Amino acid sequence: MAWGYNRGVLSAMPRLLSTDFDGTIYDPSEPEPVDLGLLDHFDTARADGAQWVINTGRHLEDVLEVLAALNLGVAPDFIVSVERYIHRRNRRGFEEHAVWNRSCRRDHDALFKQAEAGMERLRRRIADAMPATLSRDEWSPLAIIAKTPEDAETIHRWALEESENVENLCIVRNGHYFRFSHANYSKGTALREIAGLLDLGPERVFAAGDHYNDLPMLEGVHARHVAAPSNAIREVKRVVRQAGGHVSRHRCGRGVLDALQRLQNPSNSIRRK
Ligand SMILES: [Mg+2]
Repeated sequence: MAWGYNRGVLSAMPRLLSTDFDGTIYDPSEPEPVDLGLLDHFDTARADGAQWVINTGRHLEDVLEVLAALNLGVAPDFIVSVERYIHRRNRRGFEEHAVWNRSCRRDHDALFKQAEAGMERLRRRIADAMPATLSRDEWSPLAIIAKTPEDAETIHRWALEESENVENLCIVRNGHYFRFSHANYSKGTALREIAGLLDLGPERVFAAGDHYNDLPMLEGVHARHVAAPSNAIREVKRVVRQAGGHVSRHRCGRGVLDALQRLQNPSNSIRRK
């Protein structure tokens, strides 16, 4: 039987597909950095009225550069950059969701002013204790790259302690990289905002991710259908399972495809090439 995202017996298929980028659909070490079966799936889903969001920690120009180099043949309908800014595709490229992005910048400016002393305290604490790259960038008053996994765990613990002193201050972690953000703006709330623009409830939203910064979209709140590839970190797998989602035996994009195919037909595992 033909299936569709938007019709017939499978009308309950998600209409909004949100995927993290690095480690979830993109693996530059693979000969096929983005799984071709997954791209086919997005193509079919989009022809049936679904929309695709790349929900990433990268900044917009960076994502666009990688997408152009990959020449995927399928473009996302939305890009969430820096885990919080929303951009929607139009005929010329991607335009800002101005209302959301403006509030997001304003709230971050206010928050980071409040957090200044704490960020300086944390910066000194880390600099005195270990080698780590410490900087300030456009998106965070303190951006940290830990040198070792052990250092990353220590930094995570210290950053949590510091964030408790300022309301709405959150840590965003991806591997050894840390930045700070406002609790109201995450991959999860950005996804909720996009679903709202499309008039979709969480039951029509799918999300897949592999790392800490993906957790806000994987808890089953903003997306009812959640998934993680086999290479996801333990905490992501735990959260996805707890939300009733699927942890695939397959890596990266192949794992995301596996999860989407299971939604289509729960008795089916991935169709092998
Ligand atoms: Mg990732």
